[in-house]
Amino acid sequence: MFLRILSACFISPVRFVRKQCRLCGVAVAFTVALPLSPALAEQHNKPELAALTFKMAGDELRSRIVVMFDREPNVETHLLERPHRLIVDLPEASFGFDKESLEPRGLISEVRYGLIAQKRSRLILNAKGPFRVEKLEVVKNESSAGYRMVIDIVASSDREFAQLLADQKVTTSSLPSEKDGESPAISDTLGSSHQFTVMIDPGHGGIDSGAESTSGTLEKNVTLAFGRELRDELMKNKNINVLLTREDDTFLRLGERVRLARQHETDLFISLHADTIRHKDIRGATVYTLSDKASDDVAKAMAERENNSDASAGIYSEEAPVVHDILMELTQRETHSFSLNFADGLVKSLQGEVNLINNPHRFAGFQVLRAPDVPSVLVEIGYLSNKDDEKLLKDATWRKRAVERISHAVDKYYTLRNNVQAQP
Ligand SMILES: [Zn+2]
Repeated sequence: MFLRILSACFISPVRFVRKQCRLCGVAVAFTVALPLSPALAEQHNKPELAALTFKMAGDELRSRIVVMFDREPNVETHLLERPHRLIVDLPEASFGFDKESLEPRGLISEVRYGLIAQKRSRLILNAKGPFRVEKLEVVKNESSAGYRMVIDIVASSDREFAQLLADQKVTTSSLPSEKDGESPAISDTLGSSHQFTVMIDPGHGGIDSGAESTSGTLEKNVTLAFGRELRDELMKNKNINVLLTREDDTFLRLGERVRLARQHETDLFISLHADTIRHKDIRGATVYTLSDKASDDVAKAMAERENNSDASAGIYSEEAPVVHDILMELTQRETHSFSLNFADGLVKSLQGEVNLINNPHRFAGFQVLRAPDVPSVLVEIGYLSNKDDEKLLKDATWRKRAVERISHAVDKYYTLRNNVQAQP
């Protein structure tokens, strides 16, 4: 409670407010300055430490935060949940951050800072979901005066975050955990065993409508309707937990879809699409898996178009720092073989039942399939540029058959994975 009051009263000299733009409907963020209490402002006159600049880069899976200081700061950190956040405690400091640099990006949804007590300042980084701190270091600047604090955070799962909170409680006795950090939700997450989870990702949404047929059918509506029907069918298997990345007409960045898959330790990620294509006679379902090199021109064009969906919604992000990790490469290889296995099974299950394109298993560099530890496929259920396909996509009987065949492939894949895990 103590911490909550502190948060509410003092940690808000600058904070972001999200509003809807009345002209274009796009969510915009701006800052409002809130004054510190007079007593604290007085103490604020002679700060010991100056936090000069704040910088963030990255995407929903990995973000880097760099804070410049005039001298070496003594830094202490801990995690809290609801929302997931990293608390960085500092000696009393003055903050000279540029407001624009605090604008939410990547994994970070909000940045707050301020004086919390005599001689104590705090920086709070709210995240979009569970994360772990991969690196936190304070280093002396090589070519200029002062020090910099570098924090790399990586999106993780609910269970990993719960474990980090539990470990933190054991190793640190001074944390305000009993009321603010700990909660029944965390204990539940920690104690629960993982259930095989399928995440269905209806492509596009909100401001990003995706493709549009000549008669005006929007891809984002087709994928959502199909995704819901597929969820209902998959839920008939009680061993499988089914989640949707979006349940309504909202816009989700590609990175956010991948982050959600990791948050829930997804065992299988199925992204659904119904694009248009230049050659109107091309039709039939296509199953895509990830590859640096595209299998053919159609696959290449599809991936380029899909990867552009953040930009078409007016959203750009800086590149996250690239990490080369041998363990990650091994994980990726294993994940990829599972993706290929499911794609093969899916094509077999659809064959003879649902209209397929020639060479129905294709591959290209789709951003949404890049979770290193989540087997993922992208299914073009049909092409809105083809009149016959459009008719089928709108036909309830056809959709029922299609979701049944996809569901059949998922059941088989679940059995396979279960058997693999059961072996010593
Ligand atoms: Zn699409």
